Amino acid sequence: MTILKFKKAKCLTCNKEFDITLKTKPFCSKRCSYIDLNNWLVEKYSIKANENDYEKDI
Ligand SMILES: [Zn+2]
Repeated sequence: MTILKFKKAKCLTCNKEFDITLKTKPFCSKRCSYIDLNNWLVEKYSIKANENDYEKDI
């Protein structure tokens, strides 16, 4: 018994369904992976900036 089924996953950035065999997973496209990476970097830098502000206050 062999059932070939298209495995699908939801893109972490735009929530669009895509074929799980894509190399860009867990994103539907390279564009979405860049968007997510960019969001992550922005978040990281904003946390660093806040830490610096605290040091200045003390
Ligand atoms: Zn996407």
